[in-house]
Amino acid sequence: MKLPYAEPFRIKMVEEIQQSTREQREQWLKEANYNLFNLKSSQVFIDLLTDSGTGAMSDQQWGALMTGDESYAGSRSFQQLHETVQKISGYQYLLPTHQGRAAENVLFSVLVKEGDVVPGNSHFDTTKGHIEFRKAHAIDCTVDEAFDIENLYPFKGNIDLAKLEHVYQIYPKEKIPFCLITITCNSSGGQPVSLENMRAVKELSDRYGIPIYFDSARFAENAYFIRQREKGQENRSIKETAREVFSYGVGMTMSSKKDGLVNIGGFIALNDEKIYRAASNFTIIYEGFITYGGMAGRDMAALAVGLNEATEFPYLESRISQVEYLGNKMIEYGIPIQKPIGGHAVFIDALKFLPNVKRAEYPAQTLANEIYKEAGIRTVEIGTILADRDPDTRENRYPKLELVRLAIPRRTYTNNHMDYIAAAVKNVFDRRDEILKGYHITWESEILRHFTVKLEEA
Ligand SMILES: *Cc1c(COP(=O)(O)O)cnc(C)c1O
Repeated sequence: MKLPYAEPFRIKMVEEIQQSTREQREQWLKEANYNLFNLKSSQVFIDLLTDSGTGAMSDQQWGALMTGDESYAGSRSFQQLHETVQKISGYQYLLPTHQGRAAENVLFSVLVKEGDVVPGNSHFDTTKGHIEFRKAHAIDCTVDEAFDIENLYPFKGNIDLAKLEHVYQIYPKEKIPFCLITITCNSSGGQPVSLENMRAVKELSDRYGIPIYFDSARFAENAYFIRQREKGQENRSIKETAREVFSYGVGMTMSSKKDGLVNIGGFIALNDEKIYRAASNFTIIYEGFITYGGMAGRDMAALAVGLNEATEFPYLESRISQVEYLGNKMIEYGIPIQKPIGGHAVFIDALKFLPNVKRAEYPAQTLANEIYKEAGIRTVEIGTILADRDPDTRENRYPKLELVRLAIPRRTYTNNHMDYIAAAVKNVFDRRDEILKGYHITWESEILRHFTVKLEEA
């Protein structure tokens, strides 16, 4: 008999989680103004809000915490992290930050000016926020395949070269500080970018003199997909592939809360000394001295170990096959999800799931709230509320897809939890015809409104 797959780890410490009743959840959701970000974690049974900083560290990482060096300047933990980042990325300079958006804040303070455009593949929300905050524009050049959830194209994070070249042709070079490749592409569903595409983007960008930066929160998962799906890549190590990927750019921002396998942290790595010097000043103003940038020494030590673990095949196989396991269960139940299944999350197509809820009443938010009421599972809307208003017209921006994301924390839940989640979503699916109304916004902030928006039942 062929032995089934089993995780390459065992569990050393457990954390209790608690069930609740439907009546309790309905009350809590109302008190939270129907915004799942406002729930207390104790009101949630399985938390799929995000896979950002919510995973379990290994015993090696917990061990590293104890050896952290808390020196203000030149700490040993910084050196360890610096060497690890150099080895994995090939980039020479490192600036730690307290998380990924802080890395964006520091780097974009140097690179992005009012009126600039930053082309890329579906920019992440904080990335777009940091671009638009500087009165610049993010231009989405993702391939069209990304917006058809049934299309099995293996690299739906790819950049459409024609769209990118169009940007290079209509804007002067001085207005395009860089092209940003997000790996994997979070906003299009955790979809990978192929090596071939990155090479082509690099070649095109070189012709126009535009540098490439990576938003690399899930670079290890991206490298895993390259190994699984791209011809000729199946025998390379994850570290080798990642190193080649980074060779097509001049620098990276990182949210260590993803493929760094830690609960907090981020960094910038790059090669250009002048940009590094300028970014160092912003690091000191916003984050801390350049050898800690808002991170404790112990956190840098755990991150150095985490980056090494995240770039090993057995870890990535267990991580991504669990996401696949959940996705395949949903497909079996006929639930419309994005295919192929992404690296860190399963995405449900809310427009197909809830065709009776009007676009203006936020179908994805409606579905996320129904899933919470059903089983205490917290997910997140990746739809119109997240897409914010157009900065010029202040009208709702309706994205092509209205999704509910079920992000799976790393090394945290078992496949029994996955079975529970799939069954809960199926129960909502079975009564989808009864769900006719969504929500109205009663209050929202000017930027990144999804975190704090208040809603009422329509
Ligand atoms: C999470 C993430 C960020 C922001 O990082 P934080 O650590 O949450 O501040 C930026 N880009 C991508 C692609 C991300 O996934």
